[in-house]
Amino acid sequence: SDHRLDYPISPQDMDWSDYFPAYFSKKRKLDDTADSHEETVAETRTTSDVQLDTKKVEIADIGCGFGGLLISLAPTFPETLILGMEIRMQVTAYVQDRITALRNQSLTKKDEGQDVIPGGYQNIGIIRGNAMKFLPNFFEKHQLSKMFFCFPDPHFKARKHKARIISRTLLAEYAYILRPGGIIYTITDVEDLHLWMAKHLDDHPMFERLPEEEQEEDVCVKIMRTDTEEGKKVARNQGSKWVACFRRIEDPV
Ligand code: SAM
Repeated sequence: SDHRLDYPISPQDMDWSDYFPAYFSKKRKLDDTADSHEETVAETRTTSDVQLDTKKVEIADIGCGFGGLLISLAPTFPETLILGMEIRMQVTAYVQDRITALRNQSLTKKDEGQDVIPGGYQNIGIIRGNAMKFLPNFFEKHQLSKMFFCFPDPHFKARKHKARIISRTLLAEYAYILRPGGIIYTITDVEDLHLWMAKHLDDHPMFERLPEEEQEEDVCVKIMRTDTEEGKKVARNQGSKWVACFRRIEDPV
């Protein structure tokens, strides 16, 4: 449950080096100074050609499950840091192992002079967390360019609807961490949930729906239709998939 989840007091306190070791140096807590309580420590690097501590996570996969979307997005946006957030501990550990294996494979290939996929999977990470509670602790205002909600839990019963990951309150939070022009991607096999998510996003003043044509041209929509584990299950069962994408509009002056 939540009391065992680690989360930073603010985005500035977050140490990303465990998740993206090729891009961040380790932050060390210093107990003996009052005002500056952190310093960065040079760590063993997995790649030498990047400047450390300059990037921020820009894409988030909320409730990422087994990581299929992350792994497909990795070479599509090799210069962008992509984070999956997942509440289940064992699933998170599984995805972490998957990422580590892909990174190691990539490094070995590189050492052997073989071609590797762009980014070498150094740009994807997974964190255990409750996305309904702590997102603003991880991401600052306007930090994200894309948020994915792929096959979220439907919580069918009316009295359970408050547990849905798209709600008026949570949309205010997503609008805060998304930059103007940023996109929320949703996909589900439950029509009722699709209508619910689209309605809440439609009703929200900070979001506008992407025109069908633009949606269908978006490479991320193609990936999210086919590459998540839940999406594959739905395809095997010949179920329908409903997609709705919304753009975060400019802040009103
Ligand atoms: N997106 C993945 C896919 O398409 O294969 C997984 C879909 S699965 C039906 C929903 C996932 O959301 C589960 O792995 C669940 O543990 C996770 N989840 C549910 N509530 C969450 C929350 N509040 N924060 C983070 N993850 C959550």
